[in-house]
Amino acid sequence: MDKLNQRAIKDVLETEPKIRAEVLFKFLVEGKSHRKIEKEKSELVTNDGWSSWKIIYFFGFSNNDKGQFSSLDFKSLYTQIEGAQLADLVEYHTENKTEIKYNYNNSGKDILRNIKVRVGQSKLKKRLLNNYQSQCALCSITSPDLLIASHIKPWSESNDAEKVNPENSILLCSLHDGLFDKGYISISDDYKVIFRDKANLEKQNIKTDLIFRQPNKEAPKTDYLNYHQTKHKLK
Ligand SMILES: [Zn+2]
Repeated sequence: MDKLNQRAIKDVLETEPKIRAEVLFKFLVEGKSHRKIEKEKSELVTNDGWSSWKIIYFFGFSNNDKGQFSSLDFKSLYTQIEGAQLADLVEYHTENKTEIKYNYNNSGKDILRNIKVRVGQSKLKKRLLNNYQSQCALCSITSPDLLIASHIKPWSESNDAEKVNPENSILLCSLHDGLFDKGYISISDDYKVIFRDKANLEKQNIKTDLIFRQPNKEAPKTDYLNYHQTKHKLK
């Protein structure tokens, strides 16, 4: 999800809600390009498609979403846009480095659910950065753009509450997220790192003398750790 600057956010907020909904409808439902939409909407400033693009970006959509909501009717979209938590969206765009690794299912009618999920993941990451003092729980990596809110019970198997629960997440760097996600490593109930095939990892120069650094609050819940150990047969 791309970020907008303050100026662009201001422009979007100053656009009539109905115009915003019409732009989104043309893009998401009718599958029109942002340039075409800008030409069609006389209320928008002509600016090589940017006037419509920033509305699309603001609500968390990108080129991949073009024409992907064909079953949505205008009234329902308009109602949802009007009910959007604009403050959350603004916060999303103005905070730093919250890359989100998940893709979303666009088949549903609830367009804003997707937005909520994105905003939720961004908030979760922010919370984990704070709990883990902006450092991978297993190594010394501290670059925010290399850190990921890694789900213990996988994202795809979690319900909505579990998806944003810090006790179902660990702040990990890209490498450790990958190893954890694929079950090469897991965390025991007493927070020791367990390995599936230590020798194999060592052969690839992947460090195995790992110590799990506990967060200052909202430590991973045993239930979720058990789920992960069982799933990957590390129990
Ligand atoms: Zn790491």
